Amino acid sequence: NNSIVWFRRELRFVDNAALDKACLCSKTIVPVFIFDTKILSTLVDKQDKRVYFIFESLKEMEEELKTYGKSLVVRIGDPTVEIPKLAQEFKADCVFTSNDYENYSIQRDYKVKTKLKDLNIQFISVKDQVIFEGTEVVKQNNLPYVVYTPYKNEWLKKAHENDFNCYSFDFKKFINKENIHTVPFSWKLTEVGFSPATLWLATGRKGALEKIKQFISKINDYSENRDYFSNNDTSNLSVHLRFGTISIREAFRFAFQYKSKGAEIWINELIWREFYKMILSEFPHVESMPFKKDLKDIPWENNEEFFEKWTKGQTGFPIVDAAMRHLNETGWMHNRLRMIVASFLTKDLLIDYRKGEQYFAEKLLDYDLSSNNGGWQWSASTGCDAQPYFRVFNPESQSLKFDPEGKFIRKLCPELSHLDNKNIHTPYKVTWNLFSHHKNSGDLSYPKPIVEHDQQRLKAIAMFKKS
Ligand code: FAD
Repeated sequence: NNSIVWFRRELRFVDNAALDKACLCSKTIVPVFIFDTKILSTLVDKQDKRVYFIFESLKEMEEELKTYGKSLVVRIGDPTVEIPKLAQEFKADCVFTSNDYENYSIQRDYKVKTKLKDLNIQFISVKDQVIFEGTEVVKQNNLPYVVYTPYKNEWLKKAHENDFNCYSFDFKKFINKENIHTVPFSWKLTEVGFSPATLWLATGRKGALEKIKQFISKINDYSENRDYFSNNDTSNLSVHLRFGTISIREAFRFAFQYKSKGAEIWINELIWREFYKMILSEFPHVESMPFKKDLKDIPWENNEEFFEKWTKGQTGFPIVDAAMRHLNETGWMHNRLRMIVASFLTKDLLIDYRKGEQYFAEKLLDYDLSSNNGGWQWSASTGCDAQPYFRVFNPESQSLKFDPEGKFIRKLCPELSHLDNKNIHTPYKVTWNLFSHHKNSGDLSYPKPIVEHDQQRLKAIAMFKKS
């Protein structure tokens, strides 16, 4: 049997469910990656960090294969055309890949499957992104959970050692030997229409292992330290989990070695990821509208000027501005900051969460539809098990609590760096003085707050009550 293994979100050979399954049923395997032009055409920035991350991670896979004299097949195009074409070219009997839960991917895979069926070629898709998918963890009445804690408890009850096993078939001997490229890939990013970007973390499996190694000394104190964003005490693994440069099973296996409170809380975070993937697959309407359908008519104000200022980090709220500037520069934002800026956009600026969700989708290196949607709907109080609408984050007190010395603000808002630890959180309270850079004077290049928090909070509550 000849098989194709179609790599999408699992850019690794180690512990790869589809590859393992293919090894079990095939004589030869052709590993394939398609740069999907439909997705690429939506990306405005031709130095997109995600495309570069994928490209570099693929290069690492290609280099590994080259040491065995083998090669990865890379094409650029529409996968619904390219996969059936390649399957015929390589006389494949079967195409293996892993399950995806986003609407676009589900439809794409359905098209591929139908076309392959007409050619008498099988399409086999297996679970890999999560430990438990869709309806595997359900309530007693077989309905999906919509509250995290009981879901987590049931998830933990159901989990068995075997669910975390490593897929470890020796794939090397199955991979095609000859250079079967009819159109060889140049391994230049320009061929894909993009150019290299600046990344703050290493790519590929090597990059993932580096992050795990750095997290060893932090995991036990994760529960106490995780919210203090200026110290970077979280794992930074989300990007690697997004692109599958590490398997979710490996992440859990790593955490299970530690018996601390920190490890327990970190495991809970991985289960939040599973929860949101389950929500997306069981309630696909969340992709375009509130989970709570009765909240579909919230009268958002959607002030365009406010939105612009939010995206640029020019709101006059230092913690919000620092976070947004950091996102724009690096494609990364700490979880606490994501909650602060999301709450600010929806409850202080009264802007539809979907505008913020879309902006994050353009910028985040770890962008993942299910977690991003879950996070935004949680913050906007429109989601399942969300923050109640009357609980509104106060940017000032969040800033004082989690960045008491203003370290993060100082780095991202240098025009405020001369202010002392108290004033840095509220520069509008200091006297504005053009000529002085005294520790108690403001700088006119930094904007005054565009809204008044207490007033907006009341407006937000009224807006929710009305809907
Ligand atoms: P750690 O704290 O080390 O956590 C370990 C892993 O658990 C993460 O890598 C991630 O896979 C998972 N995780 C942690 N928190 C959450 C969470 N709240 N929901 C789901 N999974 C979680 N995460 C994404 O991966 N992609 C997104 O696009 C995304 N968008 C978000 C948008 C908003 C508005 C909010 C509030 C959260 C969003 N998150 C998203 C969740 C969370 O912020 C990131 O997963 C986390 O900051 C990544 O950092 P880390 O890897 O150091 O996490």
